[in-house]
Amino acid sequence: MDLNRTKDIGSSCLFAKIGTFSVLLDCGTNPKHDGYDSLPTFEKLGSSALDLILISHCHLDHVGSLPYLMKRQQQARVLMSRASQIVLPRILANSVSVMRLRRDEFGIREYPFFTQTDIESLEDHILPMQFGKPRTFKKDSDEMTVTFFSAGHVLGASSILIEHRHRKTFYTGDVLFRDQRTIKGAMWPTCEVDTVITETTRGSVMPEDRRSVDSEIERLIVTIRDTIDAGGSVLIPAFAFGRMQEILKIISDARNSNRLQKDSPIFCSGLGYGLIDDFDTVAKKLSLVNFRKKITRELGVKIFRGNDPKYIKSQIQRPSIFVLSSGMLVENTSAYNVACALIDDHKNAICFVGFCDEDTPGGELQKCSAGDSFLFKAQNYTAKISAKIHRFDLSGHASREDILKNVLGMSPRSVVLVHGEESSRNWFMDLLIDVAPKIKVFDMDPGEEFCI
Ligand SMILES: [Zn+2]
Ligand SMILES: [Zn+2]
Repeated sequence: MDLNRTKDIGSSCLFAKIGTFSVLLDCGTNPKHDGYDSLPTFEKLGSSALDLILISHCHLDHVGSLPYLMKRQQQARVLMSRASQIVLPRILANSVSVMRLRRDEFGIREYPFFTQTDIESLEDHILPMQFGKPRTFKKDSDEMTVTFFSAGHVLGASSILIEHRHRKTFYTGDVLFRDQRTIKGAMWPTCEVDTVITETTRGSVMPEDRRSVDSEIERLIVTIRDTIDAGGSVLIPAFAFGRMQEILKIISDARNSNRLQKDSPIFCSGLGYGLIDDFDTVAKKLSLVNFRKKITRELGVKIFRGNDPKYIKSQIQRPSIFVLSSGMLVENTSAYNVACALIDDHKNAICFVGFCDEDTPGGELQKCSAGDSFLFKAQNYTAKISAKIHRFDLSGHASREDILKNVLGMSPRSVVLVHGEESSRNWFMDLLIDVAPKIKVFDMDPGEEFCI
């Protein structure tokens, strides 16, 4: 049963009865909503006592409601990759701060859903998983084996194989097969499975709208270089976890090969900067990431602090690079405030490097043209768009064709479509019916129960 309230990307959370086991796949919050609306429909669990909660990765749409649920499911064991276990406490602690701010600002009384103490007690329930190493769980006379595999996408991201009485179910989580600068691409098992539960995020992205990642990275570097040369500053809105470190690595590599000026200041915001410590820990302990803390020292990265666009403007003494969260320019974030400060000068550039929901300020800004007016609601400021707005296709999700090919490679008898807009799921549905008519395809509605 899909506990996501809406049939879109939303808050990833699937409940499954597998033999006698009650299992939850992911436990997210919906970044487009606030308060109770952002939570999965946990009430649909009824009196079910969960045995296992399997977490694919630490983006909030997959893990944001975990401490909230754990207060009600103390008996459950939580499985996640070792790298996810390292980054999780910082990500959740930041989420507490954000919820507190939003409670004070918008009067959302139920916030915060959890506290630092809840995060600490959650840690006692976590069983860290090594990629490729199965763990078997017993309940009464029943048995279930779980194996995590690298899913690329972001540090620690996992695809998960569940084996129960000769039946294999594979959950893709969010997946990327190509290597990124900081982490390697997905490494899926070669076995055949009965069921694949697959993400469908990029199902609506047409092949003609895709560009090669290398050429997009080159275009980004040239854009930064030309903007700085012309006396402007560059804002790169980026998700704090994963994308910010990836962009810093791209800038570092470009500077080391003399393709980018070495003297422009670089600013990052709090959580993304803090996570660099965790990336360093993972690099030392697990060798799963190509990113060390010394990169920030070499780049001279500074932590960005500042909320008032006028103050920010006065602080920009020379052309600078801002790599700030949020990736979708959500209101009152550092990226939002810097966008507000940079937007009215034609010398500046705003470079989007990830997915932006079209209802977010980032999505709305991308629909505008030069000369349009744009309202920064949270600042109550309407600006004329003079800065250049660029869009780069550096998605952390695999293309629909790559996912389809790899899913078909596992010869499943059934495929369940999750984590995508309706149009994206439809593409997978139509293609699967076309190329593999024997496969049963399920496109779940929220709360719908079904048997595979
Ligand atoms: Zn993700
Ligand atoms: Zn996701």
